Amino acid sequence: MDGAILVTGGAGYIGSHIVVALAQAGHTPIVLDDFSNSALDVMPRLEALGGRPIPLIVADVRDMVALRRTFHDHPIAGVVHCAGLKSVGEGEERPLAYWDVNVGGTIALAEIMGEAGVARLVFSSSATVYGQPDVLPVPETAPLRPQSVYGRTKRTAEDFLRDLTRANPNWRIAILRYFNPAGAHPSARIGEAPTARPQNLVPLLCRIAAGEAPQLAIYGSDWPTSDGTGVRDYLHVQDLAEGHVAALGFLSENAGAVTLNLGMGRGSSVLEVVHAFERACGRRIARVFAARRPGDVARYYADPSAANRLLGWRASRDLATICADAWRWQQAGGRY
Ligand code: NAD
Ligand code: UDP
Repeated sequence: MDGAILVTGGAGYIGSHIVVALAQAGHTPIVLDDFSNSALDVMPRLEALGGRPIPLIVADVRDMVALRRTFHDHPIAGVVHCAGLKSVGEGEERPLAYWDVNVGGTIALAEIMGEAGVARLVFSSSATVYGQPDVLPVPETAPLRPQSVYGRTKRTAEDFLRDLTRANPNWRIAILRYFNPAGAHPSARIGEAPTARPQNLVPLLCRIAAGEAPQLAIYGSDWPTSDGTGVRDYLHVQDLAEGHVAALGFLSENAGAVTLNLGMGRGSSVLEVVHAFERACGRRIARVFAARRPGDVARYYADPSAANRLLGWRASRDLATICADAWRWQQAGGRY
């Protein structure tokens, strides 16, 4: 594809891996980020891994003046929109910020893309839009019943993007619903670097194995699953990043909106992840069983067959690789 790809939130966990994957696939990525949940130190690492200079715009994605200037100054051919707020718990306490950034930011971006005549957009959505699934594996046609403020902002941003495309079929939009991204780049130069205490399972296991956090509280031992612990579809962040490159390729050939699950298509229980992580790090993970976490569901995993078929993409890195790469990143410091 001619022209550059703007990655909003490109300094964050998923965006940084997308930037490297884009550069390695021969694209010219540009990062726009306000660094509210990332560090400037990631930039030289992205340039080293991507093998090219990467322009940076430090701006809020809601800042239409900055967006307009960005589209004026750079020959942008497409956008990957990762900038957003993503903590389920924080969203319940700060609904205004979540609606403003996640929905308002998407509207501002689409408005300026429309002005600039840029039609290709890949949007970071989440499997959390499904809520409690009726059918496993979860297809894209499953009802959307998000249980959190965060999930509702993602569903609304999705609805907005599909409405745009219905009104103007020139838009080319891929809405990607991620299941549970985990792991890190195999170089251990970029990875997930939560500033607060990690809440997600794999980053928590990293901190516990490194002695930086006490034991794992496993949220529930009585779920209706094979070993009583919750089951999720963990996919390697590298596979996820490659899915975005594939989606941009798909959009060069296809107009309209497409909504796709990105996942492995199979679930792993908390205990299976703990055991895989123990094998990867060679240490025992101290754990206790605790009460279920409010809002959790027993099991969900993706039906990724539409993404497999339409994008020619498949998540291929297994749980052992996810754990090994996450642990390597932790041993390299696990932060910027
Ligand atoms: P992250 O917080 O690491 O990255 C988000 C980036 O966006 C950060 O660099 C942050 O500084 C930036 N940002 C936040 N608000 C901004 C604003 N107003 N203007 C400009 N930049 C802003 O999160 P991530 O895990 O990389 O998630 C990226 C996207 O993927 C998010 O939209 C998230 O909702 C979605 N997602 C993440 C997961 C997951 O498990 N990590 C799962 C499903 C969906
Ligand atoms: N989990 C856990 N203890 C923790 C964090 C997570 O038992 O400290 C479980 C959680 O209940 C779920 C799985 O690990 O079954 C993945 O949780 P995570 O928060 O990483 O992702 P989610 O699927 O909730 O978005």
